[in-house]
Amino acid sequence: MAPQENLNPHSEAHLNGPLFQNALMTIKDAAKIINCDPNILERLERPRRCLTVSVPVRMDDQSVKVFTGYRVQYNSTLGPYKGGIRYHQNVDLAEVVGLAALMTFKNSVLGLPLGGAKGGICVDPTKLSRAENQSLTRRYASEIAPFVGPTKDIPAPDVGTNPQTMAWFMDTYSQEQGGYAQPGVVTGKPVEIGGSLGRNHATGLGVIYICEKAMEIKGMKMAGSRIVVQGFGNVGSFAAKFAHERGARIIAVSDVSGGYFNGDGLNITDMMEYVKQNKSLKDYSKAQMISNEQLLELECDALLPCALEGQIDTHNAEKIKAKMIIEGANGPITNAATKILDQRGVFIAPDVIANGGGVIVSYFEWVQDIMSFFWEEQDVDTKLKGVLLRAFDTVCKFQAEKKVDMRSAAMAVSIQRLEKAMLLRGLYPR
Ligand code: NAD
Repeated sequence: MAPQENLNPHSEAHLNGPLFQNALMTIKDAAKIINCDPNILERLERPRRCLTVSVPVRMDDQSVKVFTGYRVQYNSTLGPYKGGIRYHQNVDLAEVVGLAALMTFKNSVLGLPLGGAKGGICVDPTKLSRAENQSLTRRYASEIAPFVGPTKDIPAPDVGTNPQTMAWFMDTYSQEQGGYAQPGVVTGKPVEIGGSLGRNHATGLGVIYICEKAMEIKGMKMAGSRIVVQGFGNVGSFAAKFAHERGARIIAVSDVSGGYFNGDGLNITDMMEYVKQNKSLKDYSKAQMISNEQLLELECDALLPCALEGQIDTHNAEKIKAKMIIEGANGPITNAATKILDQRGVFIAPDVIANGGGVIVSYFEWVQDIMSFFWEEQDVDTKLKGVLLRAFDTVCKFQAEKKVDMRSAAMAVSIQRLEKAMLLRGLYPR
């Protein structure tokens, strides 16, 4: 062997994306806190399998277009791979690797018996007809079929995909298995074909379970508190609704059309109805319009960023006046902003726990499909609360003991669980 030979160059472009590099930084920091076995850390820093597939589709004008699809299986130590499928024009292998890593650490910290994966297709789904979208989904499902299945890898919806996408995926997989229905191959399906009650509101409800608990820890109460919600889609609107039902005043919400403020509290039921009819809050007249920037800087008890990543960074972290931030979205606070907020004593419930409600109920859906026995919605909500708060409690205890920030605590707890399981399973073949 030449003396300068680099055995493990880590030079592959798909491992150099910003999302994955950011995740690696958090992983390395957290690994130090728990003194993680370096052999385990080395394995946790790379995805196990990256699949790239060509997806040819006959378009409505009879031409054939070839799209590129991915499925990255990051780690399966704890159980079958699990993670969503994204349809977006910015999807590439590097992004999917980053998202698959995050799913691995999220499923672990939540205590689920699942590994982590993610998939996607580089496509703008808003430009496809329904027929084109169906053909795309079915061919992609067929291309990755040898690698997925109820005991192998269980996809779910993500940005740009929905329950209908999952129905087409499940049907394609089932047809290729001799036509026998295989509901357990995906989650986030419509209830009529094996979806779970309570899945639609699960992430927003989870955000509020965590918010309520964080308030209790800080000697505050949800009833009468002032809450600000950024984003009024699936996560934000249900989070606002459940907080409103618990007596909180939702003083501001926003969506892509701007921010809406009322110091006495907004009528969330009315706003949800408005969005149902108008697709967004644009031109909603029963509130004062404010900018997205102003919304984030409002004085309030809890700020729930439920829209996009990177909303709170070093430019506005000093100006945030919320007492706590519950991360409904994935990655709404940058690493540098986390440090500033932490020093200022703002409590942060990190995304891997705070928005874990969705994947927890996806896990319940898979369990129900395997049992062919379906639960009442109330039952789903109660079980969700149990799993989520148990995980949150573990992270809070770890944080208090080690005196680190909540994000590092969540990652450390996650890695600790993976490390124990990997050491028990050992390395194949030796
Ligand atoms: P969504 O598309 O239903 O809603 C997104 C909302 O954000 C919309 O109201 C949109 O108008 C708003 N928005 C977009 N740009 C904005 C801006 N610049 N300012 C203010 N609002 C803006 O998406 P979702 O499913 O609610 O997901 C939101 C976030 O939560 C994403 O980060 C997603 O990855 C994460 N998440 C979602 C789930 C889930 O179950 N839906 C689970 C875990 C994490």
